Amino acid sequence: MIPLTFDYKKISTVNEAIAALSGDKGKLLAGGHSLIPAMKLRLSQPSKLIDITGIEALKGIKEEDGEIVIGAVTTHAAIAKDKLIKNKLPFFAEAASLIGDLQVRNYGTIGGSLAHSDPAADWPALVLASDASIEVQGNKGKRRIKAPEFFVGLFETSLQPEEIIIAIRIPVPPPGTKTSYQKFFQPASRFAIVGCAVMRFADGKTNIAFTGVSDNAFRDYNAEKIISGKAINDASITAATNASLENKNIMSDHYASAEYRKHLAKIYLKKALQAVS
Ligand SMILES: Cc1cc2nc3c(=O)[nH]c(=O)nc-3n(C[C@H](O)[C@H](O)[C@H](O)COP(=O)(O)OP(=O)(O)OC[C@H]3O[C@@H](n4cnc5c(N)ncnc54)[C@H](O)[C@@H]3O)c2cc1C
Repeated sequence: MIPLTFDYKKISTVNEAIAALSGDKGKLLAGGHSLIPAMKLRLSQPSKLIDITGIEALKGIKEEDGEIVIGAVTTHAAIAKDKLIKNKLPFFAEAASLIGDLQVRNYGTIGGSLAHSDPAADWPALVLASDASIEVQGNKGKRRIKAPEFFVGLFETSLQPEEIIIAIRIPVPPPGTKTSYQKFFQPASRFAIVGCAVMRFADGKTNIAFTGVSDNAFRDYNAEKIISGKAINDASITAATNASLENKNIMSDHYASAEYRKHLAKIYLKKALQAVS
């Protein structure tokens, strides 16, 4: 299928993007690897595409005021090979290298992935587990949305229609922090059937987030409470996996039934906890 007719405008500043978004049914275009397929299926029918890939200010990765700041238009490939990321947030590099194929990684952006909030996307689990904030800008200026408040439903976020994600801000992990991202992926697309991200601090505090499991990615606070502050061993892992996914509505689709997906999620939590022990 081909998309309906649309206008196209390439812009070079955030203010131009915000101005272009107000009024008619315009949509931001970043890597286009989620939006264009949706337009071809006519699930999305924007009258205008506002190409933000020319906004240089939204590209790149830096450390600033105790945070690692990833520009929204930074590609998965750039994150996978970045030295700061490999050094301080190794699970971001691992996850980036596991996304789709080379073409998807070269075009797709972290901001586009978060805005799209696909239930099987990888980045949501990573930003949740790392206590990240999503920095957005709109007509009323800038604001930061903490990751757990950003993902609100299936392909649904708390981003307002005239807002643009400008950056992802992650507190620099203190020395001794360990991270792991484990995913069981669909072999053709590499989207997560189940993905589990864990960040474990030197004092034992442990953040756990899942993607692929429910309508949107989420932190598993029950499992976190069980394992935080304790040594990671067979007994504590079993206790944490038993406590995980409580009261969660587990997705069922042609890749995995709810029962199988729940089983997989617990196994991938176990793998992630073993990796940070
Ligand atoms: C074959 C294939 C395999 C894939 N495999 C995986 C995988 O294994 N794991 C995974 O996580 N993803 C996967 N993806 C999705 C891929 O990562 C996309 O690139 C990503 O989901 C969207 O990023 P994008 O830059 O392409 O966004 P686009 O497609 O350009 O945009 C997506 C949505 O976000 C909005 N948007 C874009 N940028 C911003 C911004 N800065 N602020 C606000 N809104 C914005 C757009 O308006 C649109 O609604 C795959 C895609 C394909 C085609």
